[in-house]
Amino acid sequence: PAAARAVDVVKTYGRGEAAVRALDSASVTIPSGRFTAVMGPSGSGKSTLVHALAGLDHIDSGRILLGNTDLTTLSERERTLLRRERLGFVFQAFNLVPALTAAENIALPLTLAGRRPDPAWRAELVDMLGLGGRLEHRPAQLSGGQQQRVAIGRALVARPDLVFADEPTGNLDSRSGAAVLAFLRDATRSLGQTIVMVTHDPVAAAYADQVVFLSDGRVVDELAAPTAESVL
Ligand code: ADP
Ligand code: ADP
Repeated sequence: PAAARAVDVVKTYGRGEAAVRALDSASVTIPSGRFTAVMGPSGSGKSTLVHALAGLDHIDSGRILLGNTDLTTLSERERTLLRRERLGFVFQAFNLVPALTAAENIALPLTLAGRRPDPAWRAELVDMLGLGGRLEHRPAQLSGGQQQRVAIGRALVARPDLVFADEPTGNLDSRSGAAVLAFLRDATRSLGQTIVMVTHDPVAAAYADQVVFLSDGRVVDELAAPTAESVL
């Protein structure tokens, strides 16, 4: 089953002479419970595609389906609610709340929604994150790799339908990056989490179950079971 689909999506920035067609009839299927990497040169439309899938941007034409919901038929307010309730986000810059502990940062989406974490789910997530005795530490007391694992915990804690990770290893050394990528892969394997990651790093893409290649605003190739060599 598809967690999300983009169908013939066209997105243009600006008007007239200055118009840039960032997506030119782009179509992609994000399979449920799998780890998908989106690759392509700078300016090929990766961020625009992911923003469209997440309902963050208005598109010119085409359809964006999240499960059975067509995001293009929703109001701005409905899309905001849907993002809050059904999507998770991980950023290159971690974006943790400095005053909160690791445990409080992870629980934040639930706290804001007035929900309590499912104890078994939380225990499994915390165990997988490998943060050991660091849950009561604040972000400044954690390494970059640990901060990103906290941010991923936060993105997953409310059990979203889909998690978007935009260059999640862009600020990490290769060893910390490998731990983050292994965690993302394990989150699909053992928790059934659907993840979409934007990256330009073939080593990172090799952790994914499938890689989608963009060029000039179009999906030009898809590769299952990628390796770093086959992605290059
Ligand atoms: P990528 O993520 O692959 O680097 P983007 O989706 O950011 O690509 O950009 C695709 C194209 O759209 C590029 O030509 C870029 O310059 C253009 N673009 C992106 N965002 C904007 C914007 N806000 N205004 C104008 N042009 C933009
Ligand atoms: P990791 O591979 O987990 O990212 P590092 O090799 O970067 O870890 O760091 C080793 C240890 O040093 C970590 O357990 C972390 O808690 C600690 N550490 C790293 N950076 C900082 C920092 N800026 N402030 C406090 N402790 C840090």
